[in-house]
Amino acid sequence: MKTTPHIVIIGAGFAGLEVARGLAKAPVRVTLIDKHNHHLFQPLLYQVAIAGLLPSQIAQPVRTIFRRQKNLAFQMGEVSEVNFDERFVKLNGSVIAYDYLVIAVGGCTNFFGHQTLEEHGFQLKDIESAVRTRNHLLSLFEKASAEGDAEKRKAMLTFVIVGGGPTGVETAGALAELIEHVMAKDFPRLNLDEARVLLLEASPHLISAYPDELRRATHHLLRKKNVEILLNTKMENYDGQRVTLGNGTKIESQTLIWTAGVKAAELADRIGVEQASAGRIRVAPTLQLARHPQAFVIGDAAFVVDGNGSPLPMLSTVAIQQGKAVAGSIRRLVAGGEAVPFRYKDPGLLATVGRNAAVARIFGLSFSGLIAWLIWVALHIYRIIGFRNRLAVMFNWAWDYFFYENQVRLITRE
Ligand SMILES: Cc1cc2nc3c(=O)[nH]c(=O)nc-3n(C[C@H](O)[C@H](O)[C@H](O)COP(=O)(O)OP(=O)(O)OC[C@H]3O[C@@H](n4cnc5c(N)ncnc54)[C@H](O)[C@@H]3O)c2cc1C
Repeated sequence: MKTTPHIVIIGAGFAGLEVARGLAKAPVRVTLIDKHNHHLFQPLLYQVAIAGLLPSQIAQPVRTIFRRQKNLAFQMGEVSEVNFDERFVKLNGSVIAYDYLVIAVGGCTNFFGHQTLEEHGFQLKDIESAVRTRNHLLSLFEKASAEGDAEKRKAMLTFVIVGGGPTGVETAGALAELIEHVMAKDFPRLNLDEARVLLLEASPHLISAYPDELRRATHHLLRKKNVEILLNTKMENYDGQRVTLGNGTKIESQTLIWTAGVKAAELADRIGVEQASAGRIRVAPTLQLARHPQAFVIGDAAFVVDGNGSPLPMLSTVAIQQGKAVAGSIRRLVAGGEAVPFRYKDPGLLATVGRNAAVARIFGLSFSGLIAWLIWVALHIYRIIGFRNRLAVMFNWAWDYFFYENQVRLITRE
């Protein structure tokens, strides 16, 4: 008797979720595994860090998302091993066999071996790191308000963000606005002219993947928000009190947010596969492992090149399209067909710099300012999972917009 093929998906991020959904009507059994019980909308993590949104507004339990999908079972746990020859994965000490495997484990922060940076720096990768950053930022304003020594106070109010990519740019803009519009009201006796937001970028440009006119617009919009931009500037070291730059300059600061590096998740290093830059797993054009065609790798963990030979970026849009493509390939394979090569359709670029300020490249046209910002708001609300979350985010943003408030200004115990 023919058994129903079993598809195991590791990772309920953008890529894994899309594969699972694409198999809803297929004659297969799906096991979706994640070490967290929720799917996280990472592009809005910085909003949690700057007290704009609650973690629950950008995350959704996986079991809720798939309540109605009868052919899917969710298992929470961390996959520690993959045996491609015998086709099983190890999870919490037990073994799960598969007919087809999808590795969609995403990425993690790359500190490039900087031990002290990893210890003292802040990152935005998961809910814990974003809440930790929020608690730290808000606590510093409380401490600064009670600090009599001007030098110490300035160090508390100097915020350094490293990495001029979209996440660094968004975080810097949002933090500058938090200080100007919200903290200024909450701390009327604190001289916030002493506060500085610095954005460090090693290359000559911010958001280097974007066209030149948008890079310049981003630079201009951030400068209008008083963000100090240091281009061609490398961070050499950070010890929790002081940032040392490549040219020897030292900046006294109790906050360094690191957004300058991403690499493939740890599992990629442990399963004996060929890795390319940033530890990403090299795959065939069909997103299969060349030596183990029953296994697919997608999203941030996969190294795939486009038509020009450049690696596809670590973006949710890539992960989603690859998830859809792999679901299609698996449906074909179980029906006796073949997997098809993946082709990325670039939907454009979008990044926000704050209130009424964003940059966008859509259908070959560049926008900046209010129009780009409205597109950004609409798209992000549309893409958040869960109707309740969409409403909550919409309400929060509308409130913040009209009343200049960031509503989640809570310092919580970690
Ligand atoms: C702060 C930030 C801002 C971003 N902004 C944007 C943006 O504006 N636009 C954009 O397009 N992209 C943005 N990105 C990138 C985007 O979030 C990623 O490209 C996307 O999440 C990749 O999807 P994925 O499915 O490959 O991985 P992820 O979404 O990271 O999902 C991977 C999942 O695998 C799970 N996992 C990992 N290892 C294991 C294991 N061993 N066992 C079980 N489960 C495991 C994780 O818990 C996670 O749920 C941003 C990322 C960050 C961090």
